Amino acid sequence: MSDIALKSIALPAPIPVRELLPWAVFAGLMLMLAIYFVGAEEGATSLIRGMMVHEFVHDGRHLLGFPCH
Ligand SMILES: [Zn+2]
Repeated sequence: MSDIALKSIALPAPIPVRELLPWAVFAGLMLMLAIYFVGAEEGATSLIRGMMVHEFVHDGRHLLGFPCH
């Protein structure tokens, strides 16, 4: 007979989808806003005057394959 006993393992508490859904929607909106600023904040679709936003996200544009220059 063995005297070795296994320790009880604490399982993480499940997160109900009902509590997760508003955060998923919020994160999706923030990601869509980020994609807008990276990809479409230029020229006719520009919301902010000047080239500051374009220059700030310029490397992201090239990384994601948006047409640039
Ligand atoms: Zn460029």
